[in-house]
Amino acid sequence: MKIESKNKKKWYNYLWIATILYLTLGLFNILFAWLGLICFLVPLIISFTKGNKAYCNIYCGRGQLLKLMGTKFSRNKPIPKFLKTKWFRYGFLIFFLSMFANMLFSTYLVFNGTNNLKEIITLIWTFKVPWKFNDLSNITPWIAQFAFGFYSIMLTSTIIGIITMLLYKPRSWCVYCPMGTATQGICIIKNKLNKNV
Ligand code: SF4
Repeated sequence: MKIESKNKKKWYNYLWIATILYLTLGLFNILFAWLGLICFLVPLIISFTKGNKAYCNIYCGRGQLLKLMGTKFSRNKPIPKFLKTKWFRYGFLIFFLSMFANMLFSTYLVFNGTNNLKEIITLIWTFKVPWKFNDLSNITPWIAQFAFGFYSIMLTSTIIGIITMLLYKPRSWCVYCPMGTATQGICIIKNKLNKNV
């Protein structure tokens, strides 16, 4: 009986479905990209308030999805050592944050009327893909621009995560995922501060 209850799946074991839904809904309406903010804010809130990585360990749908896909498609090879180093993980975090700031700036330029809305998705910060799956004529341009930028970030990190999953172990992306690095850094600082109090 005990084994049965241990194996019983909880609601959070199915959050990988939310990740698939999120990526699919963005195809039909780019404004769904805004929902991705949940995946940005929840891990930060948990690490700031609790000082732990419960989001990564329990609630991250992307981590679950990579693990699931990895059972079929991963080569299951060890990840290269340099991807685990501090300089790479924090360097990648800084790069990711600067791309995020750039996306916010592009949104601002549309907000203040300097630029027009660009209905494109930028993949891996390089490839520009026209994305006109729905009519945005009634939407405030900066709201749509943020959605395009944010969806680009989410798709890009998913693609890199999948490539890493295929080449190495299923959740190898988690080794250098910017959100994982950021929350780990927050937890280290928070726990140090708590010890010194
Ligand atoms: S490291 Fe990134 S992808 Fe992996 S579980 Fe944490 S937030 Fe999710």
